[in-house]
Amino acid sequence: MPAMMRDARCLSALCALVTLVFAAPSSVQAQAQPYFGPDRQAIYAKLRREINAITIFDNHGHPGLPDDGEVDATQIPADSSLPFRLRMDNAEFVAASRALFGYTYNDFAPQHAASLVLEKKNLREKLGAAYFSRVLDEVGIETAIANRVSMPPYLQGARFRWVFFVDPFLFPLNNEGFAAKNPDLKLNVPLEEKLLQRYFSEASLKQVPSSFSDYLAFISRILQQKKQAGGVGIKFEIAYFRSLFFADPARDKAEKIYSQYARGGSPPEGDYRDLQDFIFRYILQEAGRLQLPVQIHTAVGGGDYFNLSDGNIMKLESVLRDPRFGNVTFVLLHGGFPREREAIWLAARKNVYLDSSLMELFLYPEEFKRSLQQWLETFPEKIVFGSDTFPISDVTGAEEFYWLAAESSRNALAAALAEMVSENEITELQAAAFAHKYLHDTAVQLYK
Ligand SMILES: [Zn+2]
Repeated sequence: MPAMMRDARCLSALCALVTLVFAAPSSVQAQAQPYFGPDRQAIYAKLRREINAITIFDNHGHPGLPDDGEVDATQIPADSSLPFRLRMDNAEFVAASRALFGYTYNDFAPQHAASLVLEKKNLREKLGAAYFSRVLDEVGIETAIANRVSMPPYLQGARFRWVFFVDPFLFPLNNEGFAAKNPDLKLNVPLEEKLLQRYFSEASLKQVPSSFSDYLAFISRILQQKKQAGGVGIKFEIAYFRSLFFADPARDKAEKIYSQYARGGSPPEGDYRDLQDFIFRYILQEAGRLQLPVQIHTAVGGGDYFNLSDGNIMKLESVLRDPRFGNVTFVLLHGGFPREREAIWLAARKNVYLDSSLMELFLYPEEFKRSLQQWLETFPEKIVFGSDTFPISDVTGAEEFYWLAAESSRNALAAALAEMVSENEITELQAAAFAHKYLHDTAVQLYK
């Protein structure tokens, strides 16, 4: 049989077992079992201690203060439905405040919460720019990606790395059609337009260029400038605006549409989509050339109008498996949740990684453990931790979200690995190696 097929077969559990049986009869006990044994709890306790000592690289988050308008490019309308665990009455946030700030109360009753807000304020005044670095220290995070519009002076460069937004490039024409679709888009499309205007002025342009070549050159220039200014990756949150399926229109077609509408008029929806499809692929090509990893929001999203069908991670498959993008590093944020079990198979491509941010906040550890375990059993070297920290309020701030994400992930990770060890899927040594990769090593490789 061809060598590759032989190799593939030797990877199978059956082949491994046969090898073990003949090579070392005492290793028969290494066959995986469907139930964990009585040792699970002890293995969990041991692994949990080891995991606590691993400093984390946080692949994705929006650190900042609640009144900082640059923590994200888009907004979630104030009256949006928040899942239970992200609400202020989730008592785990109280545990976070107690752990981080010595908060002494057991709830966030207004008179109690006021003392927490004051404590944070005093600490910020005392520590200055070191305030958020201290939060990272407390939580055990070595380096955190800050997915923000810009980096503020109060996040220290030694600890925070910048990933900037590229969605505005997809909105160069008249966007009234987009904005009219629902209240969330009515709020967010103008924010993309505003950011695009800001990018124009950063490139010394007064308005959208009339030539398509000039527009593409403008995109390349901004990507280059932001990389030079410290950007380590780019981020698409385009699933908030349209389908994640991107067709592959010819440049001529895109150019024709652009030229016709760049200086006015309302492009038909299909034409605008074709243009965006082309620009999206152009940005990927440039990200590959500039070696900027591409983060893409691939999960349920905030706001009551987020379209789950359009945002289905599997719609990206034709792009992810396109050999022309083999030099582009894709980091699929939030693991395509709630489709994370399918999504892990996208990481079969060498340049595709899954990030678990937000999943550990939506899911409690007992459930997140199952998702993580399936990922660890499939491509353990292709998954990264992320917090998706976000300052919801001055009580439940980015600080508390860091703590909750890190603690939940450590608990779920230790539990998943303990069961895998107890079920004879992996050794304790492999479990420790998987933990290091997921919490730190794999992400470090991505942004080095
Ligand atoms: Zn995010």
